[in-house]
Amino acid sequence: MADDFDALMSGMGVKRLDKKTAIPPSKKAKTKVVRRKRTDVSTLPKATPQDAAVTVERIEALERGLELARTQREESETKVKQLKKKIKRLKLEVDAANQAASEPHEPLVHVLSRWGYSTPEDRLVIASHDGWLERFLGTVVPSDLASLEADLRGQFLRVCSDCKAPAGKTALPSARAECMVCGGFDLSRETRKFLDAVLINGRLRVVIVGRDTENQREVRDHVVDSRLVLTQIPGSSRREVSQARTDVEHSDAVIIWDPSSVAPELLEVYRTAPIVGEIPAGPLGALLAGAAAIVGQQ
Ligand SMILES: [Zn+2]
Repeated sequence: MADDFDALMSGMGVKRLDKKTAIPPSKKAKTKVVRRKRTDVSTLPKATPQDAAVTVERIEALERGLELARTQREESETKVKQLKKKIKRLKLEVDAANQAASEPHEPLVHVLSRWGYSTPEDRLVIASHDGWLERFLGTVVPSDLASLEADLRGQFLRVCSDCKAPAGKTALPSARAECMVCGGFDLSRETRKFLDAVLINGRLRVVIVGRDTENQREVRDHVVDSRLVLTQIPGSSRREVSQARTDVEHSDAVIIWDPSSVAPELLEVYRTAPIVGEIPAGPLGALLAGAAAIVGQQ
């Protein structure tokens, strides 16, 4: 049937549509192949010794560059290590600060009592003094405490009603025995005893070495006699060993006031004086009493 149908159609001039006879669409687009022109090796200029030298130079330069990069990397790594350490330390500090901040705060009045400023009178004197009330109000407990205590000790001094606070200091009420000036001694009596010891023994050239300028000034304020040649050397002053030797040679007695305040190499020299004695840090009254005993020693 199909063949008859085909023959019929063919007779009518109708062509059969057949997959086999259909023209397949062109699947492949024509690929253009661009061929590069081949370079003829034989036309390249030949390498000369100069070229070789240039190459060596370039290699060396590259090596130097590499070396530099390596050094820089090492430096960077060291820096990173240091920064890491720093960060670690800072973290610890922050932790400590947070820990401190989370602790219950001790009232400032308790802190002051702990430091010996225990009476309302003490605190009234301190708070009335220039700027101290403001400072108390602004104090952040506990981070400010260390410097606060040091400054309090530097400014305020226990002084009895018979004594006057040294220049630049503010007196806090005190019993005579705790007085930082007389220490319970009668200052005029002790001064007279010291001067008597100087004159009676003919030891007119006296060296007092040690402590601060302020402490030495207190001595100067009380001990006044034109016959006495008093050399005062604060422990904080710079002095050569040779100068210390001269001090010793030109003195009749050496009083070392608070040995720990004198430089060890100088202390060694002062201790060689024929008439010498040591007095611990303390009130002026105690120094004068001790000095009289030293100057009067046989
Ligand atoms: Zn006193």
